[in-house]
Amino acid sequence: MKKLILFVIGIIILSSAMFFTLNETTHNHKDLVKSSNYKQCLNKYEDVCEGLECGIIQGFRDINKEDYGRNLIDIAESIRPILGYKNGAKIGITILSIAFHEGKLTDEQKMLALDKISTLKYRDHDLYGMIDPTLKYIRIAHESGDKLKSTRGDLNLALIISYFQGYEFASAMIKSLACEVQGDTPEWYKLKTQAMVSLAENQLAIKQPQKALNLLSNIESNSWAYSEEDWRDYYIYSTALKAEAYLYLNQLDRSEENLKLASLALIQDKSRLLLDKRILIAVVEFKLAFKLHQFDFIEKNKDYLLSIANSTNQIRYTKMVYKTMFDYYLATNNINAFYELNLAYNILTDDFQSASYQLLISNKLKQSENNHLNNDNEQSMFLLKIGFVTLLVISSLLFLTILKIKYLNIENYTDSLTGCLNRRKFMIDFEARTTKEHAFLILDIDNFKQINDTYGHTLGDEVLENVASVIISVIGREYHCYRIGGEEFVVLFYGSTKERAIMLAEKIRHNVEDLNLCHDIKVTISGGLSYSLTDKDTYKAADSLLYIAKRTTKNIVINDF
Ligand code: GH3
Ligand code: MG
Ligand code: MG
Repeated sequence: MKKLILFVIGIIILSSAMFFTLNETTHNHKDLVKSSNYKQCLNKYEDVCEGLECGIIQGFRDINKEDYGRNLIDIAESIRPILGYKNGAKIGITILSIAFHEGKLTDEQKMLALDKISTLKYRDHDLYGMIDPTLKYIRIAHESGDKLKSTRGDLNLALIISYFQGYEFASAMIKSLACEVQGDTPEWYKLKTQAMVSLAENQLAIKQPQKALNLLSNIESNSWAYSEEDWRDYYIYSTALKAEAYLYLNQLDRSEENLKLASLALIQDKSRLLLDKRILIAVVEFKLAFKLHQFDFIEKNKDYLLSIANSTNQIRYTKMVYKTMFDYYLATNNINAFYELNLAYNILTDDFQSASYQLLISNKLKQSENNHLNNDNEQSMFLLKIGFVTLLVISSLLFLTILKIKYLNIENYTDSLTGCLNRRKFMIDFEARTTKEHAFLILDIDNFKQINDTYGHTLGDEVLENVASVIISVIGREYHCYRIGGEEFVVLFYGSTKERAIMLAEKIRHNVEDLNLCHDIKVTISGGLSYSLTDKDTYKAADSLLYIAKRTTKNIVINDF
């Protein structure tokens, strides 16, 4: 962790140095105008254009600079038919950027162009690229005193931050924006709806399904602000999010019901406002199928879902698909596929990290091109501030990206109920053990089914949590506790003497017996403890000892030392 922090600080210092160097350099090249770069880009795209693309480029070339402003909406609309093409989004970005830099646009028109550029960058999977136009949009909105637009700009920035998994930060930002939502025109209500949906999505990302549901149940009352078509768009997305929330709450019937409603409404859908709704539905459907043990469905759709997971902008979806696949392979005992998927997953996260560095640098270069604005001190100071904000945002995003890799592993390997490591991590660790000398302790709660039957599942869960806490507090940080089944736990003792392993196992058994639980429930635990200096299968041996413990008195740990 220390290395990680030093590394990030290094990156920040390096980026700052680069920022100042580039700032200096571009002072000497004030006439380096951005639009000429975009024009060169357009020439390149013209050389390789296909079908409709060529027509759109030619159409744009036929418009005079002076007319860019008047024709901006038409220009933006003309791009729509080529969005499915290979370079479609890139051509759109280039054309709109030229219009932005060369046309004499009003503030209103500038903001429209920036908004479209940012959306096109999302389609082009250029999430970092969205930061620059969004910050410009916010600046113009602030300067022109347009409260609605500047709030919208801030909300877009919060959305970008959540794409980089800064969920908590983005949520705080959206909540503070909510205080500024004062107007009562339809446009304000639309903004409010958008903010609530984003907030709900962030809550889902941090596994707060109930909060997400509360938010989503409120948006229905804003439907009056939308046209029928546009409302359907929000309805589909928010219903799919509800399905996801119910999935986390294990209310599978409700989840299925909402998913059906969303899919049904999707058939009539023409609006393309919320780009990811089809993907969201597919991902939730996939996860639900696993929970319902519809393994045929998983098998049939897994390649499609993995292709979505590898290409979507939202890492949240990527995680959901991979997690489902990991669980599926574990449930079907397909260890080979599990390991292969693990490799693919690591490559994916590595790619993401390396892309971050490249984009960090390219973003700095783009910033430097803006510096022709630095004519007087005031402007230069302003740009410097924007630069620093961008730099900070990017550095934090980079930090979050790096943290993400750690966080994902923690999440994938931790049992959410007890805080112990899960079976998946146990299999990896036990498979990869390097020291041969170890003791293997397997523990199983006695008569647990009876506890569940008498006091209910919720109390059963509480017992599980308490037993896990005892194990963790006894073994401390020295050894790990794994929950490998419903009420079965494992502790691997490396570098421990036999006596110490026996002592710790006894202490766990004893402390569990002494637990003070509600209804005066008495809980006991049995165990098998196997020791080996060689390659002996201690798992099997400990399990047999546990079996003997269960057949005799229970509340006992039997060892083979
Ligand atoms: P024994 O003393 O032989 O171990 O008897 P037992 O009743 O503990 O053993 P059995 O394996 O028959 O029962 C285990 C029970 O654990 C069955 C299952 O309902 C329950 N269980 C599994 N996972 C969970 C869970 O996450 N929460 C709760 N509350 N119960 C669980
Ligand atoms: Mg049991
Ligand atoms: Mg059991």
